[in-house]
Amino acid sequence: MSQPYTNPSLSIAERVENLMSLMTLEEKVGQMLQLPANMSDNVDKLEQWNVGSYLHCTGDMVEELQQRAAKTRLGIPIIFGIDAIHGHCFENDSTVFPTQLALSCAWSKQLSQSMAHVTAVETRACGLHWTFSPVLCVGRDSRWGRINETFGEDPWLIGELAAAAIQGYQGENLAAKDSILACAKHYVAYGETTGGRDAYEAEVSPRKLLSVFLPPFEKAVKQAKVATLMAGYQAIDGLPCSASSWILRDIPKTQWGMDGFIVTDWDNVGSLHDKQRVAEDLRHAAKLGLEAGNDMIMTTPSFYQHTIDLVNQGEVDVALVDDAVARILSYKFKLGLFDDFRYTDLSKKPQILGNPVHWHASLEASRQSLTLLKNEQVLPLDEANKPKILLCGANADDVVAQLGDWSFGSMQAGASDDSFHRRDCVTLRQGLQAAADAGRCELSYVRGAAPAEADFEEILAAVDAAKNSDVIVACVGDILSQHGEFHDRANLDLTGHQQAMLEALKATGKPLVVVFMASKPLTIPWVKQHADAIVCAFNPGAKGGIALTELLLGDLNPSGKLTISFPVHVGQLPVYYNKYQGWHALISGRTNHQERYIDMPEQPLFSFGEGQSYSEFEYSDLQVANPTLSASQDLAAGEALKVSVQIKNTSQRAGIEIAQLYIRDCVASVTIPVMQLRGFERVELAAGESRQVDFSVPYEDLALINAQLEKVVEPGAFKVLVGASSKAEDLLSADFTVA
Ligand code: BGC
Repeated sequence: MSQPYTNPSLSIAERVENLMSLMTLEEKVGQMLQLPANMSDNVDKLEQWNVGSYLHCTGDMVEELQQRAAKTRLGIPIIFGIDAIHGHCFENDSTVFPTQLALSCAWSKQLSQSMAHVTAVETRACGLHWTFSPVLCVGRDSRWGRINETFGEDPWLIGELAAAAIQGYQGENLAAKDSILACAKHYVAYGETTGGRDAYEAEVSPRKLLSVFLPPFEKAVKQAKVATLMAGYQAIDGLPCSASSWILRDIPKTQWGMDGFIVTDWDNVGSLHDKQRVAEDLRHAAKLGLEAGNDMIMTTPSFYQHTIDLVNQGEVDVALVDDAVARILSYKFKLGLFDDFRYTDLSKKPQILGNPVHWHASLEASRQSLTLLKNEQVLPLDEANKPKILLCGANADDVVAQLGDWSFGSMQAGASDDSFHRRDCVTLRQGLQAAADAGRCELSYVRGAAPAEADFEEILAAVDAAKNSDVIVACVGDILSQHGEFHDRANLDLTGHQQAMLEALKATGKPLVVVFMASKPLTIPWVKQHADAIVCAFNPGAKGGIALTELLLGDLNPSGKLTISFPVHVGQLPVYYNKYQGWHALISGRTNHQERYIDMPEQPLFSFGEGQSYSEFEYSDLQVANPTLSASQDLAAGEALKVSVQIKNTSQRAGIEIAQLYIRDCVASVTIPVMQLRGFERVELAAGESRQVDFSVPYEDLALINAQLEKVVEPGAFKVLVGASSKAEDLLSADFTVA
């Protein structure tokens, strides 16, 4: 006779309750395990341990394991997780998007959502249910190897783009073939480890956590209803994330009301003993991990037996296991895994993965994320004169460098092969070659310098070829082995002989366009000073070569703006726009005791929010409709600030301007940032068109965290700043007060 939990007409709560009443302790603890499927020992444990989840499972193995799970005593389905980070890139035929960092430069919630939606459709078509994405880490230190995975440096923007991505992944109904679970990671302050060293300690106070690092996650949980969080590897002020019940239980589950579950990162529980040494042995580690509120334990097999023993010997309350298992099972029900969605028809994969609609979305993302950082009237290239282009640089024709991290499997799964994604990828060289074949330009390619090798002969060949060209396009940056997990850099200069190549090419006197194709900001002051034009692509996705060609030849009017500051020099790090205002010379008028070094400019090389267009935009008439807001204890109920500005496209060409709104709280009970982003609009304007753009800033977005760790809006003077970037010279300002 079938049990009530198999009846789809009952509520999920009833089904979970019934199922759990039938489960043994062993079966419950098995549900908490997540093991890598690409190691055979783990797969053998499926029936023995009733393993609840596998990660990194691909191909036909997905359905094989699901069928085996169906035959176990209670037939509980497996939930499969994977790092589908910018597309379901573990599959060769999938649609690969720009990395999160590249995509964020489009400042588009709609793009973030569509990237996630395409990824969800392709991931689910492979029988998988859950992606470990998006990343909500705050990217403040470019030395860190994982900067490419972030949405940049601003916590508010990260929250907006992440919420949109979560909605794209999860959709309206999880039991649908275009929905998967999202995972907001790495919770929390993982990007803030000392000196940009991956997974090292984060020395962050509770106030800073509440002010900077928790808000994007709060938005992900409360607004976007993210199903899962992943705990960071690192310790915060001495307590590993996976051992902190304040971080894992009190904040998300109790305060924010999260009904989903928390997965550890790779062997976090084992690390409590092996690395972080807060547990005397793995049994103690299991106890700490369970008590703190980790619900699913990634890749710590010893957790299984130790937890069973701890409960049986009365050392931990079985209620902790029950809470975790109920959370996991309820999402298995929500995904429809007990019902219509247990199995996936994998024969449909070829029609779904990398279909034309998905590739179109990827190309659109590449187009919108490109950011023009400098242009001395070189771009767009003068097509009327059929320009002779010399293209140089290994990254102009390197699929792996173009796609970046998480495009070739994971570090653990270890796939890195440049035949992967080769068929669908269009490099800059291929993009320009297609334009040359169509008679729009002439192209010669001399590789010149590569990030990892040095070959002066090739540089000489490039210089020689420059003599017969009208313009040089040099593509420089980094390669996969220079970034990613535990691949942090202390030196952010261009490597190999890339710098030497640029200098030699510049000396030819021909206009020099630099295409920057790298995982992260590098220290390129020479490039800023000497290149005639600079296009920042980061890792622009599989169709990046098409988008770049369109931009160079003028089919595409660039609109991206940086979401991360470029340091002048590594010694300037960390560098970000929302630093403390007390030390800001522009505010205090003081020139002593500033935050700047005597041998370094105060400003970054390129600033947050910066990016040019082939159009010109003019801002005027900044107005605050309600310059006196009444103070409200209830932050959610307070009056929103209403702001408007006039933006005019003063050029002959239609374009898109990303207008930014920042708030400065002039005097507060605690030191706070000089200003903080609280709004943006992508404004499309025809040639000569002028438009009023309206902003509404929720009252709650004027709040700070005070010394008592309360979130409050403090009455007093504020400023609203609106303009083209975070740079002082780009901003109009108006006053308002909270009375
Ligand atoms: C990374 C996570 C990733 C996990 C599974 C970890 O090493 O930190 O971001 O989701 O591995 O591959």
